[in-house]
Amino acid sequence: MQPLYGAIEAGGTKFVCAAGYGPVEVPGDARAVIPTEAPGATLGAVVEFFEGITRRYGALSAIGIAAFGPVDIDTRSPTWGRILATPKPGWSDISLAAPLARFGCPVAVDTDVNAAALAEVRLGAGVGVGSLAYVTVGTGIGGGVIVADSTLKGLLHPEMGHIRVQRDRRDADFTGVCPFHGDCLEGLASGPAVQARWHVRAEDLPDLHPGREIIGGYLGQLAATIALMLSCERVVFGGGVVSGGRLLPHIRRSASHWLGGYLPIEARAGGFDRYITAPGLGDLAGTAGAFLLAMQAHVRAGDRIQC
Ligand code: ZN
Repeated sequence: MQPLYGAIEAGGTKFVCAAGYGPVEVPGDARAVIPTEAPGATLGAVVEFFEGITRRYGALSAIGIAAFGPVDIDTRSPTWGRILATPKPGWSDISLAAPLARFGCPVAVDTDVNAAALAEVRLGAGVGVGSLAYVTVGTGIGGGVIVADSTLKGLLHPEMGHIRVQRDRRDADFTGVCPFHGDCLEGLASGPAVQARWHVRAEDLPDLHPGREIIGGYLGQLAATIALMLSCERVVFGGGVVSGGRLLPHIRRSASHWLGGYLPIEARAGGFDRYITAPGLGDLAGTAGAFLLAMQAHVRAGDRIQC
């Protein structure tokens, strides 16, 4: 029998749930969008959705969760599967995985950006490369990484939004909006940071507004850092600030400037236009990634049984 997988993209404003035989094999009635409200109500609706799925289609073989962070993704940790300290009211210390135990199948939990990176490398902008970073720029800045077909995790998970960047002189007086670090990258280049300075969304900055170059310049420093530290073969930028703000050309120019010709981006990656790209899967990357996490968990469970 063909294995049936559950996928959950657990976001700060909505949970996208789906079931199917793979990321692109989802029956028409096997998808639901559930608003992120109080944890009990939201997770109750998620369980109800999958109960309906199992009644109609049979048992699930595995469930993948692509979660907003910070989330504990260390399978050896007693708090695995829980949302960690978050400013989102009511969600700190809530387990995303525990309510799904009733389905009796493996559950995989990773960050939304790690899952999106996995989807992009398998099915989207990274097909043909072995390592990829996925950065999303919106309310916050998050990044996920795939190396050797696995998502990168360790102490926690990558938190690229909070690195330091060199300040643009035109922006020297802005103190930044990160509650932890002030003028870290997220404090300078996230959606709220754009609003705080210029009182518009990045999408609404006029074409020649210096804000585009300033924000793109900071994000380009992140791309350069990723290239230097992780040696990723492709860097994908998603999220409303980048796509709506038409920032990619500024990000590429900045990354090229900061790398100073040191890495073989032209020779090995086909130039900055190919090296730094938009997502190939658009908004579907998170859910597709959750499916891939479920499929990996199913394979791993099978390996354990054979041992
Ligand atoms: Zn920060």
